[in-house]
Amino acid sequence: MKLILVLTCQKCPDVVQALNLMSLLNPNISHTMIDGAIFREESENIMAVPAIFLDGEEFGNGRMTIQDILSSLGSKADPAEFNDKDPYDVLIIGGGPASGSAAIYTARKGLRTGIVADRIGGQVNDTAAIENFITVKETDGPKFSSALQDHINQYNVDVMTGIRASAIEKTDHGIDVTLDNGAQLQSKTVIISTGARWRKLEVPGEEALINKGVAFCPHCDGPLFEDKDVAVVGGGNSGVEAAIDLAGIVKHVTLLERNANLKADKVLQERLTSLPNVTVIKNAQTTEVLGDGAVTGLKYQDKNSGEEQTLELEGIFVQIGLLPNTEWLDNYVELNQANEIMIDRKNATSIPGIFAAGDVTDDRNKQIIISMGAGANAALNAFDYIIRH
Ligand SMILES: Cc1cc2nc3c(=O)[nH]c(=O)nc-3n(C[C@H](O)[C@H](O)[C@H](O)COP(=O)(O)OP(=O)(O)OC[C@H]3O[C@@H](n4cnc5c(N)ncnc54)[C@H](O)[C@@H]3O)c2cc1C
Repeated sequence: MKLILVLTCQKCPDVVQALNLMSLLNPNISHTMIDGAIFREESENIMAVPAIFLDGEEFGNGRMTIQDILSSLGSKADPAEFNDKDPYDVLIIGGGPASGSAAIYTARKGLRTGIVADRIGGQVNDTAAIENFITVKETDGPKFSSALQDHINQYNVDVMTGIRASAIEKTDHGIDVTLDNGAQLQSKTVIISTGARWRKLEVPGEEALINKGVAFCPHCDGPLFEDKDVAVVGGGNSGVEAAIDLAGIVKHVTLLERNANLKADKVLQERLTSLPNVTVIKNAQTTEVLGDGAVTGLKYQDKNSGEEQTLELEGIFVQIGLLPNTEWLDNYVELNQANEIMIDRKNATSIPGIFAAGDVTDDRNKQIIISMGAGANAALNAFDYIIRH
């Protein structure tokens, strides 16, 4: 297997470790790691890392755990390992900060607690610097995730990673959660904290050019665009932070905001406008990503004049917010128009016994500390529900 990465990428270490482990354990597997930022000739046409190649063919892109890699190779966790599990008091779906906090709270109440998650850490794994988790002046995503994992491990929590929930249903005996390997778990209560993911532009050309110039993670993929012209779409905090970050690496950054004003904090806007290689275009609605095999440009409509404009560039960083991970629920609990789970002040959903917390909910603000508070609130209210039913 061949892995192209860059050393500043937060998503890369998991993949390196997984492939190293696989090649150590299985002599039939070999693993070559290449720093794409240094060896550009080896990584020509690679616009997003980590990029994994199996026998010369593209195999995977983005963060992958060892379980992800194994399941892409066709291996699935044995349903028998799950079907025999005793029912839980609280089953938590998702592995981010909200889930970790909920699990620690319910385990401390002596409740039989389980976590079903693709991985522990959630979006935090993709975060470079965290400076607003009060009492911790500065940390980074991987450190934060590993501290979260350690803290969960202090308690009697059944952590099932590398697996996702695919359906949920309330029955006479409790709540059934179906997993993506077909196994079923039962629980008295469930806390859904499946978080959110990057929102796409949904314009022609984007889908075909993802990882071929269309990128979402500036910390990961920024170095691959050294000395190139790029755009950042989105003028909120993450868009402006991305533009500031990229301005130190690329030749020029054009930041496109569809509204008349940037939404980012004033201090970030001031920093942005002080940079010599950044242009900000407001009232610009992105309409198309251009390129055949690799991004060559972007079209946008000037909302003032109605005219269509074209920018020539090689990279587009999309920073237009998040989409809640609620598709798997198939509207079983009530969602708002943005497909976020609607909750009350107890973090209860529309179905009694099913709670929700964190970025997956209609809570307006999405932050680690807020998700953790919500996870704790959901946990305490799940406990209250259990003692009353
Ligand atoms: C680049 C970036 C930088 C950020 N920087 C900061 C910052 O500096 N400070 C701050 O406070 N916040 C920051 N945030 C926001 C913060 O990361 C989120 O608010 C927080 O992680 C939300 O936690 P959560 O537990 O609700 O969801 P998530 O972190 O999204 O975790 C949910 C997890 O559940 C998994 N999942 C989804 N569906 C299923 C399923 N069906 N079955 C099982 N598992 C599933 C997801 O894959 C994910 O791993 C940042 C976010 C990003 C993307």
